[in-house]
Amino acid sequence: MNSLNMLPQWFIVFYVILIGLCCGSFLNVVILRGLSGESYIFSRSKCPKCNNQLTWYMNIPLFSYIFLRGKCAFCKKHISIQYPLIELLCAILFTFTYFHFGLTLKTLFLWIFIALFIAIASTDILQTVIIDIHTYILAICGVLFNLFNFGYTPILSSIIGAVSGFLIMELLAYSGTLFLKHRAFGEGDSLIALSLGAIFGFKNLLIILPLSILIQALISLPILSYEEFKNKNMKLCLSYVFVFISLFIVGFLNFNSTLYNSKIYLLVIIPICILLLWSLKIILNDLKNKKIQNTQDNKSTAFRLLPFGPALIISAAIALFYLDKIKLMIFNFIY
Ligand SMILES: [Zn+2]
Repeated sequence: MNSLNMLPQWFIVFYVILIGLCCGSFLNVVILRGLSGESYIFSRSKCPKCNNQLTWYMNIPLFSYIFLRGKCAFCKKHISIQYPLIELLCAILFTFTYFHFGLTLKTLFLWIFIALFIAIASTDILQTVIIDIHTYILAICGVLFNLFNFGYTPILSSIIGAVSGFLIMELLAYSGTLFLKHRAFGEGDSLIALSLGAIFGFKNLLIILPLSILIQALISLPILSYEEFKNKNMKLCLSYVFVFISLFIVGFLNFNSTLYNSKIYLLVIIPICILLLWSLKIILNDLKNKKIQNTQDNKSTAFRLLPFGPALIISAAIALFYLDKIKLMIFNFIY
């Protein structure tokens, strides 16, 4: 691989982008056929709306979408924006990995991780489904990665991480039954934690899991707030907004050491905590009401508003590149 590093940078970047786009294109197939249960390889690409087989020039990643202006060449119906978005995301992340770790075997492994991350998060976002085989392949690649000693954790810790990742999430899911009368989240999330444990090892998993909860909050609070805005429940809408903002303020104060040691800290943090508690009280009251409503309707949507998988995946994707920085941040936060 070292002789490849002699090539001019732009030439390598060009090919990395191309590989990323093609991989993203294949991921689109993996995601859709995974959800529909079709074979990945043994059937040719068709338009999902009119079932016409696509010719080669309608299958070029990103460019076909642009040339066809987002419409099928046969039936002229809109092609989902998901296709070019996933191709673009894959190409960007592959290029980012190359700039971070160069043309190495480690980069190749990270590309595989990223591809599986995108597949897992996408099926979860599209249909709240996690396809088991995606997580198993991720776990096996994670163990292999640490067998080659690429750096996140020793091989023994990788295996312990996989087992404990699964157990921790199952324990959390079942403890949810005490409050919700059903699992707090699906089995798919436990399988994601298993594969992340295999990649990062037990100790690092204890950093990635809390980070994913923070990310979940940052994703869901604006969405919840917008929902309540549509319901014209302004009190609740503002409560979600306030929790969102205070997460940022408290985070900023804690990570900035000069502020952390000054008197401004107390002046700001005390009113924020009071308002935060007040907002949380409004939110919890609302959740309690929704829960009563749902048990009457025999539905349980109040607590399972958004899938947790994407937050786990985003947290892991950040850790692929910035594990040491996250460790330092959490360390500062606790002490
Ligand atoms: Zn069509």
